[in-house]
Amino acid sequence: MPIDAGSGARSRSGAGGDAASETATIKGEDQRESLIGLTREELAERLLAVGVPADKVRMRAKQLWHWIYHRGAVEFDSMTTMSAALRAALAERHTLARPETAAEQRSADGTRKWLLRFADGREVESVYIPEEDRGALCISSQVGCTLSCTFCHTGTQRMVRNLEAGEIVAQFLVARDSYGEWPSPRGPRLLSNIVMMGMGEPLFNYDNVAKALRIVMDPEGIALSRRRITLSTAGVVPMIERCGAEIGVGLAVSLHAVRDDLRDELVPINRKYPIAELLEACRRYPGASNARRITFEYVMLKGVNDSEADARALVRLIAGIPAKLNLIPFNPWPGAPYECSPPEAIERFAAIVNRAGYAAPVRAPRGRDIQAACGQLKSASVPRRSRRAVDIGEALSL
Ligand code: SF4
Repeated sequence: MPIDAGSGARSRSGAGGDAASETATIKGEDQRESLIGLTREELAERLLAVGVPADKVRMRAKQLWHWIYHRGAVEFDSMTTMSAALRAALAERHTLARPETAAEQRSADGTRKWLLRFADGREVESVYIPEEDRGALCISSQVGCTLSCTFCHTGTQRMVRNLEAGEIVAQFLVARDSYGEWPSPRGPRLLSNIVMMGMGEPLFNYDNVAKALRIVMDPEGIALSRRRITLSTAGVVPMIERCGAEIGVGLAVSLHAVRDDLRDELVPINRKYPIAELLEACRRYPGASNARRITFEYVMLKGVNDSEADARALVRLIAGIPAKLNLIPFNPWPGAPYECSPPEAIERFAAIVNRAGYAAPVRAPRGRDIQAACGQLKSASVPRRSRRAVDIGEALSL
């Protein structure tokens, strides 16, 4: 039977709600290439390589895409629109396996956190934060982080490597599998938003992040609107405009301080790209408007950055930028050098920002019982580096 004879049989069932139980595990010894994270063109090349005739490759790539990203298939055998021979040929060389779930925690408030282990044994975290009628998945972009923001637990973990596009997409697939949210819903969904706000600085791994986000935005697959995706940066100024122009997702900026001397300490990349340059890049961010505001994240640290004078300075700094504030009560981790601002201080701060015309919701602490801030699940198994040993200069020259 030719490899692309087609079966003609159409299944109405995809991976569906059983996907979680079918989820395979990437084995270190499994040398097969994952198809997750490949572009349509790359899928077409792989199909050609397993013997699909050139005139059928486009159509087959479209089907494959549909099975992987619309149906959530975890094995080729479920792809009933393809011949058994093609399915077997694909399975021989390729895999759709998800990363292994090394640990998982659920908070009483519904927040859910996965520690995912990739084929090389490296681990990252993803966190799902449910709201009433939707939910955001916080996705990691690197194993560890080159930056060493002093309030961030990931900043205490050594930078190991960038994630591949497939490893970024796979974080979303694992969450989808566990909620059985396949095929991709056209209406309301539990996993309605993505925030690139997990471990790592996404603009230091731009190519893989952009490739992954294009995959999740593709209308024939997961089909998440760019309006539902937010990329958070510590302030990699030269990449900000490109990110807006090329992938057009929402921008969030980890600001956290209104003076360079303090931001140099809290977000050390500030030494290379100080506040004025960062805000200038925000003013130029393509697509920013009153309908698509830039989010400034501001972690509330007791006695450090939470005074009324800080709030007034913040309002002056962001004047003219279509912006909203996200005030984040600090979620302490063992050994953290800061405390969370008291509720009264946060309220006073928010009131000043509100009076200036900026929305400043205080992010409700989520998942405190499972330490849901990024980097905290992983810490159990990873030795922390000494902050003094971190060569910040080297990190910033990336
Ligand atoms: S806040 Fe982000 S950029 Fe800073 S150390 Fe943590 S993960 Fe890295």
